[in-house]
Amino acid sequence: MAEVRDVIIIGSGPAGFTAAIYAARANLAPLVIEGFGAGGQLMLTTDVENYPGFPDGVQGPDMLEMFRSQAKRFGAEMITADADRVDLSMRPFRVWVDDDEHRARSLIIATGATARWLGLPSEERLRGYGVSSCATCDGFFFKDQPVVVVGGGDSAAEEALFLARMASKVTLVHRRDELRASKIMADRLLAHELIEPRWNAVVEEAVGEGAVEAVRVRDVVTGEIEDIPAAAMFVAIGHDPTSGLFAGQIERDEGGYIVTDGTHTSVDGVFAAGDVQDMVYRQAVTAAGSGCMAAIDAERWLEEQTTSSQTLVAHEEG
Ligand code: NAP
Repeated sequence: MAEVRDVIIIGSGPAGFTAAIYAARANLAPLVIEGFGAGGQLMLTTDVENYPGFPDGVQGPDMLEMFRSQAKRFGAEMITADADRVDLSMRPFRVWVDDDEHRARSLIIATGATARWLGLPSEERLRGYGVSSCATCDGFFFKDQPVVVVGGGDSAAEEALFLARMASKVTLVHRRDELRASKIMADRLLAHELIEPRWNAVVEEAVGEGAVEAVRVRDVVTGEIEDIPAAAMFVAIGHDPTSGLFAGQIERDEGGYIVTDGTHTSVDGVFAAGDVQDMVYRQAVTAAGSGCMAAIDAERWLEEQTTSSQTLVAHEEG
């Protein structure tokens, strides 16, 4: 029978590793099941310039390696594999990696989210070279240059409005002639002089060799093909939280995000941090912050469990 740990952390980006640093320093000897794609979305980012403490910027993968080694330094144990199955129906909670069963009194879920992509080969080839899914992360690199945003929801509107502060022009490519974004965002977007919507258009390809030079679109009504000059293409067609592993065992919203109160989930003793429970901020620094909160919440919850079981024993003995 596997030993029962105090805490298992599933997932590795900034949320998981920060939770690991705090849990390890609280003597909870955490096990981090970091996944085959350890590190998550930051592994796909080149320069991170908005994480405090790095005035000259830092490469996403380098930052993750620093988080990871900091967690290891305090004794966090890592398994570089995916959790295949969990059982949250009773305590201790159980997590399987291949056929190995791991058990813990508390669990922190930090499995993150993945940006939806269009699925074009050119998009994949130029990712990090003008193709991005995060204007907050990469917009600054395209100061005074024309850019394209793809999508018609609140994310696309938000990205376009953010980019309009620095780009020379923003073309919003949307597959219909009506936005899905909330009215206030849509109104702001349509009123902006630097933002031009390109309705009824789908992206055929990001054009360019080493960097994006244009975005080729097809008009779905006329069939006409057009190259829109652009130094970058921001794809903002939604994110999917990585929460399928917990389906049916924990409360999730209609988008699949784990529902949290602070970092507490619907299952007592299970906490969630980072993008898997946050559709609003989705930043490395906010994920790290909520990872810290989850570890502190787990520590306090474990402490309460010990105190209440000691009180129970004292009552029974008394
Ligand atoms: P979303 O609301 O699902 O919108 C996705 C957009 O991308 C839609 O316009 C959709 O087109 C388009 N799209 C999807 N797949 C596509 C494809 N393969 N090719 C081309 N276009 C495609 O996603 P979201 O904008 O990320 O928003 C998700 C949730 O977060 C929403 O509830 C939103 O309100 C919320 N959110 C809020 C804020 C805020 O309040 N500040 C900011 C961001 C997000 P169709 O319209 O044709 O389906």
